[in-house]
Amino acid sequence: MENSLSYAQQQDAEDPLKSFREQFHIPKDIQGNSLIYLCGNSLGLQPKVTREYLQQELNDWAHHGVEGHTDAEHPWLPYHEFLTKNMAEIVGAKPSEVVIMNTLTTNLHLMMVSFYQPTKSKFKIVVESDAFPSDKYAVESQLKFHGFDPKEGLILWKPRKGEELCRFEDLETILKEQGDKIALLMIGSTNYYSGQHFPLKKITQLGHEHGCMVGFDLAHGAGNIQPDLHDTGADFAVWCTYKYLNSGPGSLGGCFVHERHAQNEHLNRFAGWWGHNKKTRFNMRHEFDALPGAEGWQLSNPPILSMAAIRASLDVFAEAGFKNLRAKSEKLTGYLEFLLDELNTNNINIITPRNKNERGCQLSIQVKNADKKLHTKLTEAGVISDWREPDVIRVAPAPLYNSFEDVFEFVQRLKEVL
Ligand SMILES: *Cc1c(COP(=O)(O)O)cnc(C)c1O
Repeated sequence: MENSLSYAQQQDAEDPLKSFREQFHIPKDIQGNSLIYLCGNSLGLQPKVTREYLQQELNDWAHHGVEGHTDAEHPWLPYHEFLTKNMAEIVGAKPSEVVIMNTLTTNLHLMMVSFYQPTKSKFKIVVESDAFPSDKYAVESQLKFHGFDPKEGLILWKPRKGEELCRFEDLETILKEQGDKIALLMIGSTNYYSGQHFPLKKITQLGHEHGCMVGFDLAHGAGNIQPDLHDTGADFAVWCTYKYLNSGPGSLGGCFVHERHAQNEHLNRFAGWWGHNKKTRFNMRHEFDALPGAEGWQLSNPPILSMAAIRASLDVFAEAGFKNLRAKSEKLTGYLEFLLDELNTNNINIITPRNKNERGCQLSIQVKNADKKLHTKLTEAGVISDWREPDVIRVAPAPLYNSFEDVFEFVQRLKEVL
């Protein structure tokens, strides 16, 4: 690798996915210059085709009214099914294990209703520190709902003193010491703060050896790394589609239920009519008859406009091919890492793992003695990145629309600001 603009441009010229950048709206400053957008881990950019997919549904609603449920170009009744195959490929699951519904935190609660079934003695939940606040609130409120004190019931898998990343051995120790009291491991597959990606299969095996249920939050995993969900054996997983999956602010979430639970009648479930047998759903008089697989957890008829945006985005992903995206992502983030090392300053420290199998595209850069002013200056310099207190800039070059030149320019501007 070389620390030069010409090298970055050369990499872009040779990039087999280079044409995909053209398929996205890249935000611009008031002078009309493209910003360096490295915030796809927070809100992915808009594919240009999304507008057409939404327009199609608006037209069908205008022309058909309620008949659109069956007569729309893409009928609304089975609309979620049009998303399943592509979504299942991106998370490495069987189609019957995946459904798009609700939003992330809602799905997390629904999954805990089913997979957190504590007893008086086995009731604790393990989460990684520092978990995303919403996940922590959800887990704590589930503990309280079942009559437990979160102070006693919540176990944090923490980095050691002076370290930033969680060690698998320390999770093993937690389970060795308290496994008989732990009911659930609920881990963010790729930590939003450090960018650390955890070994999902090993965690699942460890949890299962101790009789615990295991679930993952893939908010920072889906569309970023390949989690191979089915193969991990995890009981459930949830994610959102507005970060790496480019489906628009507040868009719907995804949910995975392992096929061994497809017909499991021993699980509690909060039910709704969209989870009911499709053949008798509209008879409205039958007892609840759960659809087998993940679809059986649906509650409501879904917002088609949001699903149209997801369909548009998944079609772009399918066209690029997830393996190709991941290959580019490793190179692009590797280049970012190289350039940051070239800065050769003691002021910054990359806290994300150096091993590419333990991270996705995000690097979290800790800046010595910095405060939010640094982030403001970067923004003024035309870089859209993300700041996390107390001292971390998170940047995530997304292989669908970011270029090697973006990465090069970012490091130039960071250098000036530093
Ligand atoms: C983004 C994110 C969320 C957000 O949850 P919503 O219910 O979609 O608002 C939750 N958890 C994690 C780990 C996230 O990264």
